[in-house]
Amino acid sequence: MRRTFWNKKPRKIVEKDDGVEIVFKKPPIYNDLCAAFNIRPVNVVYTYGDKIYNPDKLELPPEIIEHEKVHMKQQKAWMVNEDRKFTPALWWGKYLRDAKFRIDQEAKGYARQYDVICQDNHDRNQRARYLWGLASSLSGVLYNNEISHSEATKMIKKLSKY
Ligand SMILES: [Zn+2]
Repeated sequence: MRRTFWNKKPRKIVEKDDGVEIVFKKPPIYNDLCAAFNIRPVNVVYTYGDKIYNPDKLELPPEIIEHEKVHMKQQKAWMVNEDRKFTPALWWGKYLRDAKFRIDQEAKGYARQYDVICQDNHDRNQRARYLWGLASSLSGVLYNNEISHSEATKMIKKLSKY
């Protein structure tokens, strides 16, 4: 008899995907986020600086990576502290406090995600279904139910190439 490892992949702590580092840990702002929204998110990934935090070790498809890369750019572009140092904490601070800012930043991430899906998928029904799902997320509990589903749909479509 011997043990079978055929369905066990070796678990890596850090992975690189297209220059993006993925770590299987909670992000530095996890507790702030829980407190701000009064939730304990599961199956969520977070961008903090140039890393994607993936505490639940989810498989990340390319469109999710692209969504998170939008937040990387946003965090870099948005602000430097008094010492002129980049810190993702400033972006995150505003993100958690300012609902309008949060929705605006997320809509851009979702629009990019939708673009990636549409690049390879020309089926109108499948695109519509995917967009419906994205709008559900953007208008949902993860972002504190700030906007309606139809508002979310409009925002994503306006920012998308498709
Ligand atoms: Zn996002």
